[in-house]
Amino acid sequence: MKIAIYRNDVEHSIATADELEEKLADKQSEGIEFDQKKPDIVISVGGDGTLLSAFHEYVDQLDTVRFIGVHTGHLGFYADWQDFELDDLVDSLVHDSGESVDYPLLQVDLTFSGDVQQRILALNELVMKRSFGTLATEVLINGELFERFRGDGLSVATPTGSTAYNKAIGGAVVTPSLDAMQLTEIGSINNRVFRTLGSPVILGDSDVVTLKTVDNTEPVQIAFDSFHFVSKNLEKIDFRIAQQRIKFAKYRHMEFYRRIKTSFIGPEEK
Ligand code: NAP
Repeated sequence: MKIAIYRNDVEHSIATADELEEKLADKQSEGIEFDQKKPDIVISVGGDGTLLSAFHEYVDQLDTVRFIGVHTGHLGFYADWQDFELDDLVDSLVHDSGESVDYPLLQVDLTFSGDVQQRILALNELVMKRSFGTLATEVLINGELFERFRGDGLSVATPTGSTAYNKAIGGAVVTPSLDAMQLTEIGSINNRVFRTLGSPVILGDSDVVTLKTVDNTEPVQIAFDSFHFVSKNLEKIDFRIAQQRIKFAKYRHMEFYRRIKTSFIGPEEK
C-alpha cells in the first residue's frame, strides 16, 4: 500500500507527521511504502483545513485515493484520528481491507466573459460575495429564475461543508449520507425589486443552481474551501452535485450526530 503524508507547517503537525513516518517505515516488510505522487492513501496531519488542502492537491486522483485525517488540535470533521492514536492507525493501515466511506462533492462551473470556463470541485463550499458594495445576482434553479438576490453574498455548501462557513451564516447541518447541496444567503436585502426566500434551501442530486451576475463589471470575490480570488468579468456560476466523491478509509466510524455533539455542544454536565 502506497502512502503519502500531507501536513501543515505547525510545529506539532511536523512532529506528528515525522513520528507517523517513522512508525510506517518500520512496516515496509508488511507492504507499506511511501509515494507522494501516486498514493493509495493520503494521510493529512493538521486540521480540517489541512485536509481541504490535501484534497485539492490530489483532486485529480479521487477515483484511486482514500484519505485519512489526523488532527493535531481538537477533533475535526474530516480529521478524526488524534495524534496519540498513531499506533492504532498504523495497525489499521497494515490490516487494511480497502473499505471506504464516501461523501458528496460540489461541481462548480464558472463562466466568464468571452465564454471562458473554469471547473472547480469543492469539498466544503463555494461562496460568491462582495465586501464593499452589495452583490446583485439572479438565482436560477434548474434554469428557471427563482429569486433576485441583493446583499453580501451567497454560499453553496456540501453536506460535510455544512458544519463550516455554512453553519456560521445560519445554514443547517446536513448529514453527509444525503446527496445534497445547500444554498445559503449572506446578509440579503429585501425590497420590491430584490426579494429572496430568506432561508437556506437544500437541493437534491439532479438540481442545478445558477448564480447570474447582474453587473459583471463590478468585481466579485470567489472563495472555495481554503482558496479565493477576485473576478471582474464573471457572468455566471452553475452548481451541481459532482459525480466524483471523496473517499475516506473506513477503519472505524464515528457516528455523524455524535461528532456534531462532540464538536459543537460538548459533554453533558453531571
Ligand atoms: P481557516 O479560516 O484557517 O479555518 C476555518 C476553520 O474552519 C478552522 O477552524 C477549520 O478547522 C474549520 N473547518 C474547515 N472545514 C470544516 C468543516 N467541514 N466543518 C467544520 N469546521 C471546518 O481556513 P481553512 O482552515 O483553510 O478552512 C477553510 C474553510 O474555513 C472554508 O471552507 C470555510 O468553510 C471555513 N470558514 C469559516 C468561516 C466562519 O466560520 N465564519 C469563515 C471563513 C472560512 P481546523 O481548525 O480543524 O482546520
